[in-house]
Amino acid sequence: MANKGKILVTGGTGYIGSHTVVELFNAGYEPVVIDNLSNSNIGVIDGIKAITGSLPVFENIDCKDYNSLERFFEKHSDIKAVIHFAASKAVGESVEQPLVYYRNNIVSLINLLQLMPKFGINNIVFSSSCTVYGQPEILPVTEQSPIQPATSPYGSTKQMSETILRDATVADKNLSVVLLRYFNPIGAHPSAEIGELPNGVPNNLLPYVTQTAAGIRKMLRVFGDDYNTPDGSCIRDYINVVDLAKAHVCAINRVLEKKSKKNIEVFNLGTGNGVSVLEIINTFEKATGVKVPYEIAPRRAGDIEQVWADASLANKELGWKAEETLENTLKSAWKWQEKLMAKNKEE
Ligand code: UDP
Repeated sequence: MANKGKILVTGGTGYIGSHTVVELFNAGYEPVVIDNLSNSNIGVIDGIKAITGSLPVFENIDCKDYNSLERFFEKHSDIKAVIHFAASKAVGESVEQPLVYYRNNIVSLINLLQLMPKFGINNIVFSSSCTVYGQPEILPVTEQSPIQPATSPYGSTKQMSETILRDATVADKNLSVVLLRYFNPIGAHPSAEIGELPNGVPNNLLPYVTQTAAGIRKMLRVFGDDYNTPDGSCIRDYINVVDLAKAHVCAINRVLEKKSKKNIEVFNLGTGNGVSVLEIINTFEKATGVKVPYEIAPRRAGDIEQVWADASLANKELGWKAEETLENTLKSAWKWQEKLMAKNKEE
């Protein structure tokens, strides 16, 4: 396949980053990965090779380190665009260590934006989050829905990053930015060569579900069954990680082909369907035949009651749509969990 050009993927060994590297290869791009491996490991590169037959260039670089980043750009000329995933993402941790979060997430972005024009790079796709909407008054949420005050330093960094990128496009007319607001990414590559690698006790629902199903955790706690939703548990828009990764390829195509007159665009990436915590458990059990012991626990502080996406703008403008079924996505999460357990046994 023709080489469509080099794309720098920061955080490319992370959960969404690694799936995106695979889809970039599949689409004929040449992904170049940098990551400081703070929340991932180098073995992910082998997983990418096993799926695609291609080994991405990898460099252990921390985006907070301006000088290393500059040396990297000097070495790798002709990068056409950047997809910036590298960031810390644990809400609770961000409350305990706000300065670490501001430094990691904000300094890294500023370094990239300062260096890109020096090396003639004008295109950046940024990982944002539906957290910027808080609890929306009207559902589903469109890109026009109001941004709510952030409820954690993590959420703040995503809002600030969007502002920084917006301001940068005002000052530099050559810069093209796509902000992608993710809903709840779940699942793994169907090959189970790559997937989510939570550190310690998972905060997110899906890794907790698969670890409970696997017997690693005794009991899943469902945080609240007294919300104003049909079954009382919270509702989210769970999006398959491979579908999500493909949206990045569409965003890259769009900026490189200059398909939009605007130099900053924002897209919701979700399925358009709201699914409750209890529905996730039931669907997981049906799809895999494995029981998930659970109990109802008090509400988790700071949780949004319900949110799901209106993804019609991404459908129309990016030509992208979430395609995988929830059943298959949950099966892929379970297959990945089984693979991790088999690996741990070997070690
Ligand atoms: N959740 C839960 N038990 C858990 C983890 C999460 O009931 O052990 C619920 C949580 O309250 C929320 C949903 O699952 O309603 C998704 O939570 P997650 O942390 O994965 O995503 P976020 O809250 O950021 O949307």
